[in-house]
Amino acid sequence: MCCSHELSEKDLQPITVHAGWQENIKGMRFFDPHVHMTSRTTDDYQAMADAGVAAIIEPAFWLGQPRTGLDSFRDYYSSLVGWERFRSSQFGIKHYCTIGLNSKEANNERLAEQVMEILPLFIYKEGVVGIGEIGFDDQTAAEEKYYRAQLELAKEAQLPVQIHTPHRDKKRGTQRSMDIAIEHGIDPSMVIVDHNNEETVKEVLDRGFWAAFTIYPFTKMGNERMVAVVQQYGSERIMINSAADWGISDPLAVPKTAALMKVNNIADADIRLVTYQNAITAFAQSGQINVADFEQAQPVNQSLDYQGNKILRGGQQPRIDKEDIIIR
Ligand SMILES: [Zn+2]
Repeated sequence: MCCSHELSEKDLQPITVHAGWQENIKGMRFFDPHVHMTSRTTDDYQAMADAGVAAIIEPAFWLGQPRTGLDSFRDYYSSLVGWERFRSSQFGIKHYCTIGLNSKEANNERLAEQVMEILPLFIYKEGVVGIGEIGFDDQTAAEEKYYRAQLELAKEAQLPVQIHTPHRDKKRGTQRSMDIAIEHGIDPSMVIVDHNNEETVKEVLDRGFWAAFTIYPFTKMGNERMVAVVQQYGSERIMINSAADWGISDPLAVPKTAALMKVNNIADADIRLVTYQNAITAFAQSGQINVADFEQAQPVNQSLDYQGNKILRGGQQPRIDKEDIIIR
């Protein structure tokens, strides 16, 4: 979800092309803890796999226009634990998700009430690593009501919480989100506060929360700014994500930022923490992440199907990784 952005002088200048940036991160594995693959293509999956993205988390979010009925929520949640996870596996990427009612649609109270009733049917499913992305958009009373209700749900299910912080009045919205989480007795170590910037990061870290950063062209953070944040605050409890979705965004934001950190002499151990390990440590508190599922490249078999449906279309040849050296 993006907001308006005034183009600055800097935006209009040509960007230096870093040809061969993938060489800088050769052999590295990445974990993108916020990416909306439902809105992306198979080309994106392939490019992510090629760049070393080993695992991802897809938070439930707003689809760009309001849903009009409960069944579209139900089908969407089902696809996050079903079809989309299968699609990801077809490129060797381990797919997890967080489930929640997003802040924008919390404002449709009639529907929000119904969504709250079906959330328990999904949050205990395999591979659901948190309640998310929830929090504030316009910071309305309805948003607060359903944010609080979902914090209670997270507490009951002992799941991490993935907070979407608002674009407008971000600082206040971020503070409020943290205050309310604490009010509900949730330990900051169970809360990932997302879409941080230079204005919010210090307080989020000081209060013991995880600070996630979205590298999103024009609106949230550019990755040159991200490099500076890591230089200033270090790598503890910081993680970066692409939040790639249906808007102009970049599913390679995590590997590209790792490459830029490398160029800027940030230590490999710190790069690994902010682009891989911290996200795992935070979301593995769900009990749903087994690192053995993705720490090594996984074999791909595109001839498999999910409930009778494949990612291949007529005549396309599946990619099958075989141990066997015989080629037929
Ligand atoms: Zn998102």
